[in-house]
Amino acid sequence: MFTTAIRFGNAFLNSLVISSMSDGKRNGQPKQQQNQKRKKVTKLHNKTPPPPTIEDIEDIVPSSFTEDETHKMRASLLKWYDLNRRDLPWRRLNHSSKEEDQSELDTRAYGVWVSEVMLQQTRVQTVIGYYNRWMEKWPTIHHLARATLEEVNEMWAGLGYYRRARFLSEGAKKIVAEGGRIPETVSALRKIPGIGDYTAGAIASIAFNEVVPVVDGNVVRAIARLKAVSANPKDSVTIKRFWKVAAQLVDPFRPGDFNQALMELGATVCTPLNPSCSTCPVSEHCCALSISREDNSVVVTDYPIKGVKVKQRCDFSAVCVVEIQGAQQILEGNKCVSEFLLIKRPNEGLLAGLWEFPSVLLDGEADWFARTEAINGFLKQILRLDPKKTCHIVLREEVGEFVHVFSHICLKVYVELLVLKGVTNNLFKKRNNKTIPWKCVDSDALSSMGLTSSVRKVYTMVQKYKKKDLSPAKKRNRRTKKLNS
Ligand code: SF4
Repeated sequence: MFTTAIRFGNAFLNSLVISSMSDGKRNGQPKQQQNQKRKKVTKLHNKTPPPPTIEDIEDIVPSSFTEDETHKMRASLLKWYDLNRRDLPWRRLNHSSKEEDQSELDTRAYGVWVSEVMLQQTRVQTVIGYYNRWMEKWPTIHHLARATLEEVNEMWAGLGYYRRARFLSEGAKKIVAEGGRIPETVSALRKIPGIGDYTAGAIASIAFNEVVPVVDGNVVRAIARLKAVSANPKDSVTIKRFWKVAAQLVDPFRPGDFNQALMELGATVCTPLNPSCSTCPVSEHCCALSISREDNSVVVTDYPIKGVKVKQRCDFSAVCVVEIQGAQQILEGNKCVSEFLLIKRPNEGLLAGLWEFPSVLLDGEADWFARTEAINGFLKQILRLDPKKTCHIVLREEVGEFVHVFSHICLKVYVELLVLKGVTNNLFKKRNNKTIPWKCVDSDALSSMGLTSSVRKVYTMVQKYKKKDLSPAKKRNRRTKKLNS
């Protein structure tokens, strides 16, 4: 995805940084010359780099650590980890004795798998709650294999990247169908849907002690600083080299602990903005720190360089919260229970298979009239529900708008509330049920359902609006749009 010019530029910058590392002479150059080069590098960070002079994979990430360095780093890092590691629920499944039975191994592998996939989504503190709820509901891979995709999506709601939840579900089904044993090696794990190099390395090393590396964003940052790597850490060639360096470092006796230690270092000490170099267990091997001590214009956070951000697409969506009064004719006290209409998204694409309020993608910014027309067309086409003709509109109002950011899409969401009366089951029966599945749920069910964060945002917005803007006094004065009149 990155342009050749950018890659060449990084290789060029990196070649300068590598040659400026403070290990005495490098390439036979005196230290004074090296310092001059280092100053050049810092100046070049904000400029367009000159044409390439070097593009050799070995130059993009420097050569490995020496054997002596490697031994010392392993020992320091593991010692630090043993004393400082965070007590996390998935770590409580770690090796308890040498004679574990197969089910213990499988449970640990399953726990590592679930936690690592969740950790790719969000912060540790958020994952803990999700992980505990998940393991309580599906304590083994066999339990997960029996769950429906809808249940899995509900449990995952709010974590984002629902494709990963689907892969977990599909992976569990495949493993159970093939005998129920979680594969123990990276090469076998890679054959499971959704398990990439990172997750395979984590499961194989942490659960089964395979001596393989794991490289996540934390490891990239730590290694980039330890080796003062200026190459773009998102470039695939550079990433390959990070894996090589991590493979050299991994401890042959405690590979799982070592990998977790390196990730923990990046997460808690060698953080993106405020690394705590004074408490770092491997500071004596850190090139970035060494360079920054010699040259005031360099700071360790110069490494790794910031990757080029992918430009987000801007989409626009009209969402209509359809509240149907008396849909089930259930009376609670004197009140008729309302239900909300939910539509299931297609099984492919963004947020595949998840429930949401009826929505329509717009071509761009759209006014209220255009949006209601678009929503009316959607309701008519999908449900044969024509708010203008087939039922009574109690209320139809604009509620507000917000922007929801996905990794690659910036979605502007316009929210409206449409309250209907007189929608009978017969009316719904006329729908074309071969198109999109739908259902009506009451507010209790809606509150306890696993909804995506954007759907939850819409619902919360509507509830607040109803409380604040639909109070009896305001009701008398408000501008209700009766589009059916
Ligand atoms: S010394 Fe500082 S920059 Fe280097 S690895 Fe440790 S925390 Fe990171």
